[in-house]
Amino acid sequence: MKEREHIMEERIEISDVIKMKKQHPCGTNEWEVLRTGMDFRLKCLGCSHQVMVSRKLVEKNFRGFIKRAKGNSEL
Ligand SMILES: [Zn+2]
Repeated sequence: MKEREHIMEERIEISDVIKMKKQHPCGTNEWEVLRTGMDFRLKCLGCSHQVMVSRKLVEKNFRGFIKRAKGNSEL
């Protein structure tokens, strides 16, 4: 549980690719961030489906970065 809090100290930014705990029905759990804020817009990398997810839910399901937009890749 503490690990998750630590991970979220890093800000999720637009164009980052993040891993979520919950899988999309298409079978992938990797999402590209299209918009941040109170609500996040995420694009499924498996099927390109886009969803709006509340920040709270993103933080709850966040499992790590697949790719950072700004290259400071600290996986
Ligand atoms: Zn999908």
